[in-house]
Amino acid sequence: MCVYGPVASNLSGRTLKVCPVPARTCTCSCVYCHHGATKKARGVRRDFQNRSVVLERILDVCGRSHPDFITFTGGGEPTLDLSLGWLIRETRRLAKVPVAAVTNGTLLYRQDVRQDLARADVVISSLDAGTEELFLDIKRPHGSLDFARVQGGLLRLKEELRGELWLDVMLVRRMNDGPEALKAIRTVIDQVEPDVVRVKVPFRPPAESRALPPSPEALAGAIRLLGPRARKFDAGEEPIECWESSSFNRVIGTICACRPIPLARAREIEGRLRSPGALQRMIEIGDLVPREWQGERFLYAGNEGTKKPPTTTRMGVRDVHHSARH
Ligand code: SF4
Repeated sequence: MCVYGPVASNLSGRTLKVCPVPARTCTCSCVYCHHGATKKARGVRRDFQNRSVVLERILDVCGRSHPDFITFTGGGEPTLDLSLGWLIRETRRLAKVPVAAVTNGTLLYRQDVRQDLARADVVISSLDAGTEELFLDIKRPHGSLDFARVQGGLLRLKEELRGELWLDVMLVRRMNDGPEALKAIRTVIDQVEPDVVRVKVPFRPPAESRALPPSPEALAGAIRLLGPRARKFDAGEEPIECWESSSFNRVIGTICACRPIPLARAREIEGRLRSPGALQRMIEIGDLVPREWQGERFLYAGNEGTKKPPTTTRMGVRDVHHSARH
């Protein structure tokens, strides 16, 4: 679990980010994932840590940083955490701050997951494909998951949700940025009727080098095709506040445990925390690993950024049978 920020947010003002599951713990292994290859795709929910300790941490940071929103997100799939619903409810009740929850949508077919998410003020779900074929190509999900379940889950969530439902569409060049793929996604959007559709492009190093952003023209055309709710997601790296008055190593370590950070952003934090040389030392001892992508350098925790992506297109089915029990 890690808590970082607040960061400037697309939601409203500043949001505190909470990652309830360990990095690269997910139901999918998306070609564009900037966390690298998923450790082991899962279809089963479980508890990852003591939920009271997580809540205490959230309330502590929240009390010191006064965010406008708290977002459950992460380097993995937050709905894999069995305590997510409890954490959302208790965070809202005790912090008195609105809560958003991010999901890849793959577990929305489960009633317990929808009940957990229904406690949030905003749910942000991925929708990168409108067909089973593209869903498998882009998301590379666990063997128990399929596109029909995602679609059905989104429709049910929309009916049950009291708050807002946003959809995030990640466009990958020559995968889902063509007219046929976009029309299929649009069909699902029209069925689900979300409040907002955010159109994104890869903006950090992807798990697969072929997962490139579409051209600006293709992106503009895609936004038109995806309909009136679609808008371009501002992919710029958000400024990160340093609520930690302690060490630079701790701040950077916490952020990189959850996701890579651009070198320029890390340097900015180093300057703000008056820690000259600390960044270079972390790189030299291997706590941070640089990786270049599209002309920009990013830093990963340990060797996270250098992990080889998987070559399979679909995950194993070992957990499928267990998943039916939850
Ligand atoms: S992009 Fe999100 S859903 Fe896809 S593998 Fe990475 S963490 Fe999981």
